[in-house]
Amino acid sequence: MKILANDGISDLGKQLLEEAGFTVITDKVAQEELANAVNEQGIEMILVRSATTVRKEVIDACPNLKLIGRGGVGMDNIDVAYAREKGITVINTPASSSQSVAELVMGHLFAISRGLHDSYKNMETGDFSALKKKYAKGVELRGKTLGIIGFGRIGQSLASYALGCGMNVVAVDRTGNPVNINVPIGNGHEANISITPSNDLHSVLGQLDYISIHVPKQADGSAVIAAKEFAMMKKGVRIANAARGGVINEDDLLEALSSGQVAAIALDVFENEPNPRKDLLNHSAIACTPHIGAATLEAQDRIGEELASLIIGQFAVKN
Ligand code: NAD
Repeated sequence: MKILANDGISDLGKQLLEEAGFTVITDKVAQEELANAVNEQGIEMILVRSATTVRKEVIDACPNLKLIGRGGVGMDNIDVAYAREKGITVINTPASSSQSVAELVMGHLFAISRGLHDSYKNMETGDFSALKKKYAKGVELRGKTLGIIGFGRIGQSLASYALGCGMNVVAVDRTGNPVNINVPIGNGHEANISITPSNDLHSVLGQLDYISIHVPKQADGSAVIAAKEFAMMKKGVRIANAARGGVINEDDLLEALSSGQVAAIALDVFENEPNPRKDLLNHSAIACTPHIGAATLEAQDRIGEELASLIIGQFAVKN
């Protein structure tokens, strides 16, 4: 069986699939050519990350498609219910990238606390003494309170890192169930800390020095953080969004930055990917990365391995 891994697959994932007898094609096909390529090359499985979309039109145009696989969590780029109605297997790898996203967020929280993102841009051309003064008002993470909105796999992994750094963690989630967070400290030590999320976002916003958002794209497309929520936050709050574009209203965010209500924000995701608006990208108080939350070698190996094992488990015998 032929598999098109249109947004790439780790060497390990490819190797496992090829050893099981599958042919894995990694030559990227443009979105508008996808259906043609699938039909012309006799491809029966498409693997994607977040870049390629597999919507109803592609599904309808490819009657021999047997499986759509998403390397990662959010499946908002696939018409999952429609595909399943048509008898196509749809799989993803929900847990493989949690640690990788959590580490990116910690990197961003440290960066926006000291203006690292802006300093990196300006050191080559700027005046050293002026820049030294400009970045002299950094803040520290230890002892501060981090609010994690969306306390699922990634939110809990982030809590582990933040607690390990000496931050206080307040969680918000619809579920409200207590969660035991394991905090590996190194040198063989660990701690276990129970956190019960609040289900009332508005009641906690005023306590938070930092906020990180880890909810999925909302079913109705609405923002979880907009003008009303910014107004409830502590002045000078720092925020990270590595969830999905649109969970923060970008117009309201720019206003909150202008007024100083938000001191700085890190964005890994944007409303208009892959062409985010320029006034976000060139804003000195916004640290931007191009949707790389899951993009570590370790996470890509875990994703490739998990996809391969799911496919081999379901399809190898029929091959
Ligand atoms: P998850 O399903 O384990 O957790 C999401 C949690 O959010 C759930 O516990 C749910 O109850 C909660 N939730 C949903 N809407 C809420 C709301 N309005 N208010 C409060 N809680 C709410 O998902 P996860 O694995 O932690 O991933 C979270 C999201 O991160 C994914 O859906 C995806 O969009 C994003 N993500 C981004 C990257 C990246 O590269 N930046 C990588 C992986 C995942």
